[in-house]
Amino acid sequence: MASVIPASRPALGREEYRAVERVLASGMVAQGREVAAFEREFSACVGGRPCVAVNSGTSAIHLALLSSGVGPGDEIIVPSFTFAGTANAVVLTGATPVFADIEPTCFGVDPAAVEAAVTSRTVGIMPVHLYGHPAEMDRLRAVADRYCLAVYEDACQAHLAMWQAAPVGTFGAAAAFSFHATKNLTTGEGGMVVCADEQQARRVRLLRNHGMERRYHHEIVGYNARMSDLAAAVGRVQLRRAPSLVRRRRRIARALDAALVEVAGVVTPDTMPAARHVYQQYTVRVAGRDRVRAELCSAGIETGVHYPVPVHRMPSFRRYRSAPGAAGDALEQTERACAEVLSLPVHPGVSDHDVARIVEAVAAAVS
Ligand SMILES: *Cc1c(COP(=O)(O)O)cnc(C)c1O
Repeated sequence: MASVIPASRPALGREEYRAVERVLASGMVAQGREVAAFEREFSACVGGRPCVAVNSGTSAIHLALLSSGVGPGDEIIVPSFTFAGTANAVVLTGATPVFADIEPTCFGVDPAAVEAAVTSRTVGIMPVHLYGHPAEMDRLRAVADRYCLAVYEDACQAHLAMWQAAPVGTFGAAAAFSFHATKNLTTGEGGMVVCADEQQARRVRLLRNHGMERRYHHEIVGYNARMSDLAAAVGRVQLRRAPSLVRRRRRIARALDAALVEVAGVVTPDTMPAARHVYQQYTVRVAGRDRVRAELCSAGIETGVHYPVPVHRMPSFRRYRSAPGAAGDALEQTERACAEVLSLPVHPGVSDHDVARIVEAVAAAVS
């Protein structure tokens, strides 16, 4: 029987092993020089903005918002079609997430829906660059400018993605990346806050480490959201390899596109002209998604559903509302996407032979 093609698999090799060994041998494994070097090197791929490494993407969003002064009484407009971590981080600051619908072609938050959701309490917008496709940053920034709102980018899935000539992570007041094992660049667990300036970076560093810059001198109440040098050493290697890993993802996506456009019943992922998509996920729409998924599973092809339930429908978010203007609390495009989306394997470990197997199995399942 043919081997199983996993839905996701981190691309870790000898260089990562050697980096971990080097840190282990040094005896300095907590946050130290490797973290500082990782921050400097990451900064180079977000236009030189100051970067602060933390223990997860969720912490990165949380500290980005806290360091910007977001808190109780504030509303942040977020998509409901995202990982719950986006909205969790908003709630953890004491602010209120307001859920807006997506535009259906590339799954990003809809600028018109965002505008309709603005109230006198709105202080910011948090677009998510879902699947590695940038949100429509020029239209979203225009809305933000019109109402004097800050833009916070959830770039957790979008390392090295670009909108026009600029990398994601450079469009707003702050941005957050994740290095979870399923992301394009991984440290196992980890995250990065991209800051607007050095003052904000200092506030994030304080929040990351119990509010202290000088040991046992606590200026504010903070968290332990530090990254370890073990993780950062892996991240530095992954960062060097990222351009080639992303190129491989894009090549696999092009091959899937070329074959799957021929298959009736499958809607392949669209790309906006201004976008450089980095395919953290390769997500199609199909009717009868759960049945197709089960058939692919029997054929040894693991898939993912990102995401099966809108965040505003989760028990944990029931008390927050979706944007006004939507019928009841329905977000039409979000609900539809949740029923139809299916993520096919696109990680760098997918071979050309795997691509052929995936296409054949998808065609058989939808016919
Ligand atoms: C992964 C992810 C997060 C959270 O990142 P963690 O590192 O898992 O905490 C937040 N938002 C989005 C869109 C994500 O994909």
